[in-house]
Amino acid sequence: MSRVYLDYAGASPVDERVLEAMKPFILKPGNPLALHEEGQLAKRKIEEARQYIAHLINADNPDGVIFTSGATESNNLAIIGMGERLKNEGRHIVTSNIEHISVINSLKKLEKNGFEVTRVPVDEQGIIRLDLLEEAVREDTVLITIQAANSEIGVIQPLEEIGRIAEQHNILFHCDATAGLGQMPLDVKKANISLLTMSANSIYGPQGVGALYLASNVRPIPQILGGGQQRGFRSGTENVAGIIGMGEAAKIAALEMRGEWERLKSLRDRLIREIPVRVRDAHLNGHPVKRTPNNVNFRIDYVEGESIVLSLDILAGIAVSTGASCASLTLEPSHVILALGVPPEKAQGLLQVTMGRFTLEDDVNRLLEALPSVVDRLRRMSPLTPANYFEKEG
Ligand code: PMP
Repeated sequence: MSRVYLDYAGASPVDERVLEAMKPFILKPGNPLALHEEGQLAKRKIEEARQYIAHLINADNPDGVIFTSGATESNNLAIIGMGERLKNEGRHIVTSNIEHISVINSLKKLEKNGFEVTRVPVDEQGIIRLDLLEEAVREDTVLITIQAANSEIGVIQPLEEIGRIAEQHNILFHCDATAGLGQMPLDVKKANISLLTMSANSIYGPQGVGALYLASNVRPIPQILGGGQQRGFRSGTENVAGIIGMGEAAKIAALEMRGEWERLKSLRDRLIREIPVRVRDAHLNGHPVKRTPNNVNFRIDYVEGESIVLSLDILAGIAVSTGASCASLTLEPSHVILALGVPPEKAQGLLQVTMGRFTLEDDVNRLLEALPSVVDRLRRMSPLTPANYFEKEG
């Protein structure tokens, strides 16, 4: 049975073109600090990658792109680094209540060191309450940190409006754009974003590489100390091949994103339309339109998400997810789904489908065919299913 892979938010396949660009530098990586030809070539290719990434997010200064080991590290550097830099100017940070765990835990660390954090709620469709955001801002607020899109429900936040609030109050805006990169236009100038978190794998680059964009006036305190590479913001020999891969991936994303948006959106909308027709008591999580074109997230009553994932995997060869894999170690209901106002007992049967560049119409067909019988089988075994549930079906 051929596999169907629909967990792009968990990990995306690497584009062959990206792999080709990386190959020579996996085999013969030069050290960018070295003076010889190999070192200087690596250095030049890293600068080129910065330019492709700056272009993708409409940033003027490619030097502001600092490479990291991924979005987690970028979020740590942005939030903890700025907190440490600005602690004498104010110790209050505003965020949303649906951020990624790496943002949540970076903020918790600052809270332990005397910062206060206001977590602004989202509405039932997952969009930040701008009125409450405005109210949350105080004299001593030094940073607003809000994601571009949510990796579980795909909901896109109104970045330009958030940026306007930040600008009016002279506060820095950090945006975790991991789930939005390559899925939606990102413009650091239009949205007044001073720090932007990115991950290479979001754009079909390798895992374990990311970047943090810094506007020219922004200087987080480094979190990794060593030889002073990358203007001291992030020491350590650069992951040369990974960075070149991220640059190539950004170059391709800038060219192909618009066409991909339309294609994926039609697959997404088909799933959003047809899943509730084929599976009763299936409810879409998050805004139906203001979401990335790759994301579908349903709550299916009377089943557990993990059972759906395992059944689709084993019985139908289909890989899907229940939500953020990084938070799956906790077994707690997703804080993102709870933030939508879903009661904890209803936040169990989650089905998250994320697609991407290599997803075909036929993959979607396979899921639509397999899902109803998988859910039906689980419901017949589930103690959560009401006694007369199948009789009602007629
Ligand atoms: N932020 C968001 C929104 C994410 O979805 C993720 C995980 N994909 C991260 C940060 C962390 O990324 P990584 O695990 O690659 O460091």
